[in-house]
Amino acid sequence: MLTFFTDPYESELLYGAIGRYHYYIGNKDYKDTIREIFVNENVIPTLGLASYLDNVSNNLGSKYTSNYIIKNHTIFPFYSPFLPENRKIELIDNMKYSDGKGIYHKIGIIAGSVCKKQGIYYCPECAKNDIDKYGEVYIRRDHQLQGVFLCKNNGVKLKKYKINKTNTSRLEFIKLDEKLLDLKVEYEEDEDISEKLISVSRCASYILNTNLDTFNKDIINKKYRQILHTKNLLSINNRIRQEELYDELISFYGDKFLELMESSIDKNDEYNWLKVITRNSNRVVHPIRHILFINFLVENIEVFLRQRNLIILIHLENLLGHA
Ligand SMILES: [Zn+2]
Repeated sequence: MLTFFTDPYESELLYGAIGRYHYYIGNKDYKDTIREIFVNENVIPTLGLASYLDNVSNNLGSKYTSNYIIKNHTIFPFYSPFLPENRKIELIDNMKYSDGKGIYHKIGIIAGSVCKKQGIYYCPECAKNDIDKYGEVYIRRDHQLQGVFLCKNNGVKLKKYKINKTNTSRLEFIKLDEKLLDLKVEYEEDEDISEKLISVSRCASYILNTNLDTFNKDIINKKYRQILHTKNLLSINNRIRQEELYDELISFYGDKFLELMESSIDKNDEYNWLKVITRNSNRVVHPIRHILFINFLVENIEVFLRQRNLIILIHLENLLGHA
């Protein structure tokens, strides 16, 4: 067991905590750091997710179970509530027991990349606060999410860190260096867009930081149908009024914003995301599009999720249905 570890800060990625560990323990070679943390040399650092967590957890002591690390120090919870139950279990197992090589690929394949980020992102305002409070800056998981452009706390534009996988060793766990940060605060000029982007950031953060273990793709889909029903967007024979739904969503967001979110909708495409998200098919839709859909349906994600009683009813229905 390790006698020293850099305990992750709130919502810090495990990746970032390992970067700080490497720095404070004074290792020269990242291979040593990898061996010390993972008890295995075949680990390639992954920014948002993780691998061999079972080893990491045994190594760090009972405070850090692998489930705890996944929930609090990876971006997995952002994807999790929108995945089919079996896929969730498979990906969690992957992070616990394997090298995690295919995991981005797997999440990418099933969810598709929307507003892909290449590199590490930070918020200049949060960075300043971290320096004041902790004497160092750390990698916050909220800021790494695809489709999150502004900080949820203050609407400040997130910035890309100068060093990334392309200009450093692939074994490196990058640690943010205060001297390399651009702390100039910038805002989105278009107020309407800014407001919508902040709302997306808040929603993403809420999903990341709320225990949504009981949710999965099926349950979310059933909730959608219930809300569509109350909005009169289901026909008598329970079919979705796609035309009306499309028109309402477009007028709610506007083309410009949907384009920015890489989520424009081709009305004539049978598999456009709006049709796929409302159908109970095997296809998985990116979390950012679920957020767009949820924010359109109800005030915000909290309101959407608060209707727990509906979910319990659905659970019961399923149980009875499957009995
Ligand atoms: Zn911030």
